[in-house]
Amino acid sequence: MIDGLPEGWTSENGVVTASGTIAAYAARLQLVKGACREKGCSRRIEIDARHLCGRGLGRLSMQQIQDLYRCHRIDERCAIQWHAEPAQNPLRLGALVGKPNVRVRVRCRGNECKYFRVVRVEEMIAGLMKRKQGDEKTDVDALPKLMTSGCPICHKTNWAVEVLYVSTQTMGWRQMGERSFESATQLGGV
Ligand SMILES: [Zn+2]
Ligand SMILES: [Zn+2]
Repeated sequence: MIDGLPEGWTSENGVVTASGTIAAYAARLQLVKGACREKGCSRRIEIDARHLCGRGLGRLSMQQIQDLYRCHRIDERCAIQWHAEPAQNPLRLGALVGKPNVRVRVRCRGNECKYFRVVRVEEMIAGLMKRKQGDEKTDVDALPKLMTSGCPICHKTNWAVEVLYVSTQTMGWRQMGERSFESATQLGGV
């Protein structure tokens, strides 16, 4: 578990992402389903990560488990198409309150537009409550749809919302602290 982030989540290049291990799917209460589309095969599979964790497989990746579920037929290929159901325990803003090493970045996805702003989680929650659109229980993934105002630069309404994270164990954090976010344009390769 990454310091300060809820179980099931990790940081990639400074941006919080869903972790791909079986234990992480279990923590997020996220089912993965597959159906084989190959002729003559109608296998349907449901991967219950919590069940697999109980059998000691929590450290495997979901990809490894999916490979094990392939159809093993001699003269046909496997054509399972997988999809993850929405997490029953998603990343909610409230889980990130009071953490100095976390910010929310709202970024315009308009063509060529580079506009973004970086806000504290508490500011994001206060804004949602003021507009009566949400609160600390709001799922981070639901945020782009709740941002209904246009970009001040390109006027499009096409937002991406990311959670930025800096490990407090790093030398950078020890030296820079919250000033680490002043260089937030470099995080996540934007
Ligand atoms: Zn099959
Ligand atoms: Zn824009």
